[in-house]
Amino acid sequence: MMLQQLLKKVNFMGAKIISGKDFSSKVREKVREQVAHLKETHGLVPGLAVVLVGEDPASKVYVRNKGEQTAAVGMKSIEHKLNENTSQEKLLKLIEELNQDATIHGILCQLPLPNHISEDLVINSISPDKDVDGFHISNVGRLGTGQKSMVPCTPLGCLMMLREHHGSLSGLNAVVVGRSNIVGKPMANLLLQDSCTVTIAHSRTKNIENICKQADIIVAAVGRAEMIDSNWISEGTTVIDVGINRIAHPEKDGKTKLVGDVDFESASTIAGAITPVPGGVGPMTIACLLANTLTACCRTNGLPEPEGLSV
Ligand code: NDP
Repeated sequence: MMLQQLLKKVNFMGAKIISGKDFSSKVREKVREQVAHLKETHGLVPGLAVVLVGEDPASKVYVRNKGEQTAAVGMKSIEHKLNENTSQEKLLKLIEELNQDATIHGILCQLPLPNHISEDLVINSISPDKDVDGFHISNVGRLGTGQKSMVPCTPLGCLMMLREHHGSLSGLNAVVVGRSNIVGKPMANLLLQDSCTVTIAHSRTKNIENICKQADIIVAAVGRAEMIDSNWISEGTTVIDVGINRIAHPEKDGKTKLVGDVDFESASTIAGAITPVPGGVGPMTIACLLANTLTACCRTNGLPEPEGLSV
């Protein structure tokens, strides 16, 4: 460890760990209670349909987890598994059927899709009211203009953790590293809506470390293992690590381990608070998918949205 890092460690008590694992179980419990309430008061059961095309192993695990967690909070969960060669036409027809199905309030088409299918076309064929991933162009536009929308699950989970930790985010300097449509851009829009001063950094950004050093909040969504270390962070900064990267295990030959885009050991010597990987943003993403399905069900039926589960 470098001398500078060692000194920081001696002088600093260490970052607070923001546990997405713990927070997500509270979110899921809240969703479960609200689902039970909806059933009792209105005879309504929120329903989520997940569509998987092909055999991508990671996607299969995600879809299985989503199905299990949806059922665990008392919602209806259906899965459509289509083979790799399914035509775009057949997939669009299935989505149209789900759009028309009154027992389904949320539709998610697991990405990536096989190359012969246009992801944009498929995403935009989902009814915006049922678009629990928040990727439909109409939801993107609504979020960008500050109107009620379905918000992408990962940035929504990050926002929930930031609000829980800071209370108000108003006036804080936030740097989002990464500008993807599914994480970086919606994250920046959400932070802007909460009155942060927002900078979006990306692969062409100059002096990126110095920009991050000015931040009260850093959200790392880059996809580069352990790129951000203590040299990018000022004392007390809140660091949200979205990254999920599998790397060779440094101590166990032939084994791998999951790490974030942030070097946790180094960053936690100076950050005020930090999310771990695993156990940070990941569990919040699925919890927010459940929250979005509940929100969609309430909105469709003209019922008030449960507090704290949507923006
Ligand atoms: P993308 O690959 O779509 O986007 C990555 C972004 O990082 C791009 O905007 C890219 O810039 C930027 N970037 C790449 N290299 C650098 C660099 N050296 N310096 C600064 N910026 C850089 O990734 P996603 O947004 O989809 O995902 C990001 C990470 O989050 C991944 O590890 C992914 O696995 C993880 N993830 C985790 C989720 C969860 O539930 N926890 C959910 C979704 C994603 P440019 O645009 O200039 O190329």
